[in-house]
Amino acid sequence: MQAMVLKSPGTALEWTELPDRHPGPGEIRVRVTACGVCRTDLHVLDGELPNPLSPVIPGHEIVGRIDEIGPGVEGLQPGQRVGLPWLGHTCGVCRFCTSGQENLCDQPLFNGYTRDGGFATATIADARFAFPLGEAGDDVSVAPLLCAGLIGWRSLVIAGDGRNLGLYGFGAAAHILAQVARFQGRSVFAFTRPGDTGGQNFARGLGAVWAGGSDEMPPEPLDAAIIFAVVGDLVPLALKAVRKGGRVVCAGIHMSDIPSFRYELLWEERQLVSVANLTRQDGLDFLAQVPKVGIVTSTTRYRLDHANEALADLRAGRFEGAAVLVP
Ligand SMILES: [Zn+2]
Ligand SMILES: [Zn+2]
Repeated sequence: MQAMVLKSPGTALEWTELPDRHPGPGEIRVRVTACGVCRTDLHVLDGELPNPLSPVIPGHEIVGRIDEIGPGVEGLQPGQRVGLPWLGHTCGVCRFCTSGQENLCDQPLFNGYTRDGGFATATIADARFAFPLGEAGDDVSVAPLLCAGLIGWRSLVIAGDGRNLGLYGFGAAAHILAQVARFQGRSVFAFTRPGDTGGQNFARGLGAVWAGGSDEMPPEPLDAAIIFAVVGDLVPLALKAVRKGGRVVCAGIHMSDIPSFRYELLWEERQLVSVANLTRQDGLDFLAQVPKVGIVTSTTRYRLDHANEALADLRAGRFEGAAVLVP
């Protein structure tokens, strides 16, 4: 197999020839056909997340076909199309795993971070954390659903069912979530970098009732806001934009420091929460929504060996929607 490997944080990924591995007990081998590029991959690259596997193959929005099945795996077939998300393994016995909060597991493994991911021609996965995908939708279009879609979905559920929803940062996750929110009859208010008229037009094209810079106030108070951008300065701005009792959800795994702010912004039962990872149930719930909503992803395709270019373009905001690598 071949992979784009991060040998150490802060360096470029290197095209590397690796021996093919066979799946062990409970594992499957997946021939990767598409892998989305996520903001979290940049945090892995930049060494902003603690204790990564090193060297590591990044990538956690993996679509592929099972080509070998290890001992003890049930319910999956060779040739079947599956998706592998960020959550790659949980312990199954900690207080979180046994109370429906496996997203907070004490001993988790994450694809593309603490175990090898999908910037490769093949990967080995814990079979219990593979989602059967069926055959609807091409592999490239489906890939961004596996993190941007899934984490977006969990964030939306945690944001509650208020009608006016603000989305700060209109990238891969928000462009999927805007379609879900609109399908649910909500009004989407999109916040981009100030002056990003391209991003604001993109958001309006996906049904946002209003789009503007993150330094602007929406025309109506928000019931909830989800922050996808990695900018801590957005937290007080979003708190200011939500009504009394409103909720602000931070959806990213990493964020720059949040500046201090007046208590008045939190007063009147405004809530500030974060979303961490996903549960397998989130994945099943979200994937069941996809055909109902008719989600269309906007993707920019890169060859796997051009992964560094895709990552640089993501960092610079040079495309709309999501980047997807194709081996
Ligand atoms: Zn656990
Ligand atoms: Zn991700």
